[in-house]
Amino acid sequence: MNNAALQYAAVRVAERPDHLAPRILYIVGEGNDRFCAAMLCPCGCGADLYMSLVVGDDPSWRARAHRDGTASLSPSVARTTGCRSHFVLRQGRVVWCTPQTPRGRRSRRFWERARAAFLR
Ligand SMILES: [Zn+2]
Repeated sequence: MNNAALQYAAVRVAERPDHLAPRILYIVGEGNDRFCAAMLCPCGCGADLYMSLVVGDDPSWRARAHRDGTASLSPSVARTTGCRSHFVLRQGRVVWCTPQTPRGRRSRRFWERARAAFLR
């Protein structure tokens, strides 16, 4: 399997897509105006994640499309509902942050689901 094909790719779009595909970070905007970034939650829960790219919004993120086509998103995305995933996207790779669960560890099922979502 080609590892490069399993990274998150940055895709520029003019409007927010109705349907989000796995392993794509959509950067929504026109020209130099970037409105938001959209992606499926990498844990596999199926949630659509939308992050504002508008400077001055609170919170807001910075999205980058690298020359190799991969995407970066910072700062980290921390869901406060549902799966409570907390991750950062760095050059196409999902870097998971310390879990915010009381137990402090993610279950094996979580990782299996995340891996399955990534390979989809
Ligand atoms: Zn999730």
